[in-house]
Amino acid sequence: MSLAKDSKKDFDFIVIGAGISGPFVAHELCKKGASVLMLEAGPHFNRDTYPCKEIDSNSQLYWGGGIELNTDADLGILRPKVVGGGSIVNQALVDRFDKIALDSWKEVSGADFFNQEKLAPWYDAAEAELAIQEIPAKYRNGNALIFKEGFEKNGFNWAPLIRAQKDCRFDDGNDCIECLSGCRIDSKQSTPVTVLKRAFELGLVLESQFEAKTVRWTPEVVTVMGVNRYGEHKSYRAKKIVLGAGAIGNSRLLLNSGFKKSLPALGRNFYSHPQSMLLGLYDRPINAHKGPLQSLKSNDATFRANYFKLENVFAPPVAIAMLVPGLARRHLSVMKRYAHMACVEVAVRDTNPGEISVASSGRARVFKRLNSFDRDTQAKGFKAIHQIFKATGVREIVDGRFSIGLHLMGGLNLGTDPVRSVTSPDFHLHGYKNIYSADSSIFPNAPGINPSLTIMAISKMAAAKIIQQAS
Ligand SMILES: Cc1cc2nc3c(=O)[nH]c(=O)nc-3n(C[C@H](O)[C@H](O)[C@H](O)COP(=O)(O)OP(=O)(O)OC[C@H]3O[C@@H](n4cnc5c(N)ncnc54)[C@H](O)[C@@H]3O)c2cc1C
Repeated sequence: MSLAKDSKKDFDFIVIGAGISGPFVAHELCKKGASVLMLEAGPHFNRDTYPCKEIDSNSQLYWGGGIELNTDADLGILRPKVVGGGSIVNQALVDRFDKIALDSWKEVSGADFFNQEKLAPWYDAAEAELAIQEIPAKYRNGNALIFKEGFEKNGFNWAPLIRAQKDCRFDDGNDCIECLSGCRIDSKQSTPVTVLKRAFELGLVLESQFEAKTVRWTPEVVTVMGVNRYGEHKSYRAKKIVLGAGAIGNSRLLLNSGFKKSLPALGRNFYSHPQSMLLGLYDRPINAHKGPLQSLKSNDATFRANYFKLENVFAPPVAIAMLVPGLARRHLSVMKRYAHMACVEVAVRDTNPGEISVASSGRARVFKRLNSFDRDTQAKGFKAIHQIFKATGVREIVDGRFSIGLHLMGGLNLGTDPVRSVTSPDFHLHGYKNIYSADSSIFPNAPGINPSLTIMAISKMAAAKIIQQAS
């Protein structure tokens, strides 16, 4: 890995954002011998340098010092800012999309490659870049066992979760709750230990702690202007650029660069799978923070038809403390029972699109509300979770006090219609044949399924199209 020293050099490609999509696209471009510069706003850590304390990792790995809010201040937005992006902070759960999600995408976007057969080779190619495992039943912790028992007593169907991990060394007593702030044993298959590493070997140049502020476009060359780690204003040029800054990052960059006039749908169609965590307080210790953090999920056709899914999940103490309602003694009395908490989360497949805009300061503003259908969906999930806890001897149930958006999607939605969408089925912006995107911003709507494997597959597909168009 080297730093871009010569800002006068023209690259074949600049990739903005070193999250999940950016590295997958960059790797393919480097394989073809292209000169590629990657710009990432966040810092570059490795297994020895990831921040250890929860409070430090929140402030050092996320935009907004840990959490951002929508304009109504009732949705917490978690947006990674680090080399590796979401792959550093996420749970690495990898699922292919089902027919329900892809049929809906095809209908909304008009892109016929959104079907399971056409995407299968790209899913295969993405999976080949990773080690993927199902967590063996013997490692399920107390939280997972409550999830399983509660599901079975209520007649709900569950399934094991599939994770992108190599060797989590559970026999050595590893607690994977820690890897929410970067994996210290390089087991989690983040992009820095997979495709990014391979791209560096092929000559990828990375400048971390460089925030792209605006983009200036001509048909021949695109200039990216921004601020580096020393506070200096710099610009880089390339024949083509690839936007991999995520739903909010891409929308903000293009809005601040004046693209809204030619791309009226820019910033619209924002979805977030709002997730709510409910805590069950038990008399016995559950130790949800021990061993594999998550190992089971709902696999229930009724839940899917009702637009929600459940996962067994937990979080470190600061995050749990933010979710627990009440103040002073009441709050403390719940937090003291941290080791006695079980936790189940409901994720809503949201149907009411939000909109990303920019304030006069240039900061992103996210307008996002649940409509009555989404609120009903959420209530159905809450009801199922209460049933699970009640069937397993819970003492008290604490509903998390606000929802969180972790799967940030849309803003540059893909479609055939240049008025209602931003990104064409060839992955360039409508009317701009040298500006591409294939990350979570191009999602046409909320799939209701963990997005990262599909981001990887689509990024591979997009890279093949970009290479084809360049030759
Ligand atoms: C706590 C958590 C748990 C999750 N768990 C899962 C899971 O288990 N499974 C799953 O499938 N998904 C999960 N997700 C979601 C998943 O990680 C994201 O959907 C995915 O990372 C999106 O990929 P991306 O490439 O579109 O963007 P990101 O991974 O968000 O990467 C975008 C990058 O662009 C950078 N950037 C933004 N603006 C600029 C700029 N102006 N200049 C330079 N750089 C910029 C950002 O700093 C960031 O590093 C989780 C997310 C979170 C937060």
